[in-house]
Amino acid sequence: MVHQEKHRSHRSGWLRAAVLGANDGIVSTSSLIIGVAAASVSQSEVLLAGIAGLVAGAMSMAAGEYVSVCSQADAEKADLEIEKRSLSENYSAEKKELALIYQQRGLNPELAHQVAEALMAHDALAAHARDDIGLAEISQAKPLTAAISSALTFTLGAALPLLIAYLVPIADLIYYESFFSLIFLAFLGAVSARAGGAPILKAAARVTFWGALAMVLTASVGFIFGIST
Ligand SMILES: [Zn+2]
Repeated sequence: MVHQEKHRSHRSGWLRAAVLGANDGIVSTSSLIIGVAAASVSQSEVLLAGIAGLVAGAMSMAAGEYVSVCSQADAEKADLEIEKRSLSENYSAEKKELALIYQQRGLNPELAHQVAEALMAHDALAAHARDDIGLAEISQAKPLTAAISSALTFTLGAALPLLIAYLVPIADLIYYESFFSLIFLAFLGAVSARAGGAPILKAAARVTFWGALAMVLTASVGFIFGIST
């Protein structure tokens, strides 16, 4: 029988990105709506600000994600090129380097050398990518996919507070908006914690705290500037 435990951190990459996008969408849009509403403007102005915030935020997420995935991929590619060249010019020195790494991880010198030799005979570049550079796998980064999915998850998150701003009369908007946005955030935190196998209550409390802080700050800005104008 093969023993195989489930590791949830494998899927943490895309999950983290999706939760981050939705979380950003909820926090920034609800704070924006609360801030503008606190300055006592009309419902259509609040909605306009919310929609502008959604578009700006989604584009900013897409651009940020695209640039970050691209530069990460560039850096990995450059590292692999250096490693590839070094392997073709200095195979035995690279083997010693790898053996030394395994020795530092606890193998005795003889075994470390055997392991380095075997792994490099199998796939020298992969062995160095993993154990020398520290790349978990030679990644197939997709900047455009990452950009689109973060823009989408941000938009999904932002749609919730925007919907509240559309449905609730402006007089009560601040209270409903904060209440429901915090519920959305707590729910999102709980779902992501559950999917990631982390403590649910702690994760929910964490996102709710930061969301509440953002809302209090923008509400204060709205009140201060709303009075002065
Ligand atoms: Zn190396």
